[in-house]
Amino acid sequence: MLGCGSLRGMAKKQYITTAIDYPNAAPHMGQVLEKVQADVCARWFRLRGDSVRFQIGTDEHGLKIQQTAAKQGITPKELVDRNVPLFQDLYRRLNVSSDFFIRTTDKQKHWPTVQELWRRLQKVGVLEKRPYVGLYCTGCERFVTKKDLVDGKCPDHQRAPEQVTEENWFFLLHNEQEWLKEALGTIYKMVPSFRSAEMFALLKQGLEDVSFSRPKESLSWGIPVPGDESQTMYVWCDALTNYISGIDIFGLSGSEPRSGGDHERAKRVEWWDDAHVTHVIGKDIARFHALIWPAMLRNAGIRLPDTLLIHGFLTNEGQKMSKTVGNVVDPEAVLKRFGGDPDPLRFYLSHEIPVGNDGDFSPKRFEELYDAKLRNQIGNLLNRILVLLKKEGGQIVDFSKVPGGSNVEAIVPQAWSFYEQEMNSFVFHNAVAVGGHNQIADLLNQHIGIYKPWERPKEEKIQYLSALAEAMRHVALMLLPFVPAAAQRISKQLNVPYADKMLAKDFVLTPELKRWGGVGGWKAVGEPEILFAPLVG
Ligand SMILES: [Zn+2]
Repeated sequence: MLGCGSLRGMAKKQYITTAIDYPNAAPHMGQVLEKVQADVCARWFRLRGDSVRFQIGTDEHGLKIQQTAAKQGITPKELVDRNVPLFQDLYRRLNVSSDFFIRTTDKQKHWPTVQELWRRLQKVGVLEKRPYVGLYCTGCERFVTKKDLVDGKCPDHQRAPEQVTEENWFFLLHNEQEWLKEALGTIYKMVPSFRSAEMFALLKQGLEDVSFSRPKESLSWGIPVPGDESQTMYVWCDALTNYISGIDIFGLSGSEPRSGGDHERAKRVEWWDDAHVTHVIGKDIARFHALIWPAMLRNAGIRLPDTLLIHGFLTNEGQKMSKTVGNVVDPEAVLKRFGGDPDPLRFYLSHEIPVGNDGDFSPKRFEELYDAKLRNQIGNLLNRILVLLKKEGGQIVDFSKVPGGSNVEAIVPQAWSFYEQEMNSFVFHNAVAVGGHNQIADLLNQHIGIYKPWERPKEEKIQYLSALAEAMRHVALMLLPFVPAAAQRISKQLNVPYADKMLAKDFVLTPELKRWGGVGGWKAVGEPEILFAPLVG
């Protein structure tokens, strides 16, 4: 069991966050993968009855934004105000069900929290100002060490770092490694767990202090260091803090800023202390989230998060996506290929890329999967059932005994228990396969051809088709976290009584809904329609 097995059977508060995106360019497919995986997680938690707060956002400060804006002859604020809606709009069209979008340029909510956190760290003596001589990669926008370099160059940017000497505030991370060794993997779990090994290797090498600010002359686009006008905060304190500023953990936003006391406690209890906190991030930033972030929180007297869910990278037909090679997959182009329908992409990412692993984005494989699974196995099956049933009047009859020996009434409950186990352990690709095709739709596709309901007496035929419609009802529910819009279209065509409500955030998979024949008041199916259109060209 990988993840939150201890939560089974308990309604729980879940606070899920993704990494905040850097909006110096339009969104890319890696960011989409992360949002979709987090969304599947959020939707699943809601469906099993947890209360969920799901936050995404943008990391808008830093030298790269400052430089990109300068190149384009606009201010950094103009740049981010132009680009941030590209992210918000894309994620909305992908049906990412986030509850809150945090922007690090938000001076009402984000800045006061970041500055308060800084003050707390300063108060306990873990911040220190001193000169720093280091190698700085402007591409990475961070100081790099010699061991990060290949042939003296940053491997990601193919350029030599600059040597920089300057006054910085430092976060004294070197003091933190002993307790981190205890906390990582126990209090603060990593999924997949093999990522912990990488963190323990870093801890074994020993942690270095982290540059926490830069002089204002070299970095002006950021949050000022409280009490030191000459310095701007560097990415760590600014960006990582979004996870607690978005929930206003110190109770500072609003017209009467208050810190401490009951107000702060109430805020903290709701979505941090009382919640299961899950950060969904990419493997490239795992160490910042596994080492720096918990150390910041602990020193500020805030409890550690619970789960770090770490995804891999996407390649394009096996090749690393890169702007220079020109093989970066544009999510907008993919959406356009499917007429704006987000579900084929959501299905592909969930089906093909196991949570935690690297994965390949292959346009060819994508189109094959779309045709084989979504159009044929699910779409055509549904259509066949509905058309045959409509011919007989469209009534749903008692299917407690399913004729024909398909055993579907026993397979559906088995599928549910496997599905729930896999969903609770973040093994989404197995769960979508159960719901999507392997166990149920695949079986029905085969069985319908063998049994030939159209050759059966009318009563038996209707009974059989009613049972198949019931099986499709379960398929739709299992697909709901992955392809919500399609799951609802299936349910509407089946005409199940809850179809209109199933995309609401308070829709819960009750035991009745998961039971074979568990839905009362379902009398007839609706009109069959094409579920997924054929691809043209
Ligand atoms: Zn670099």
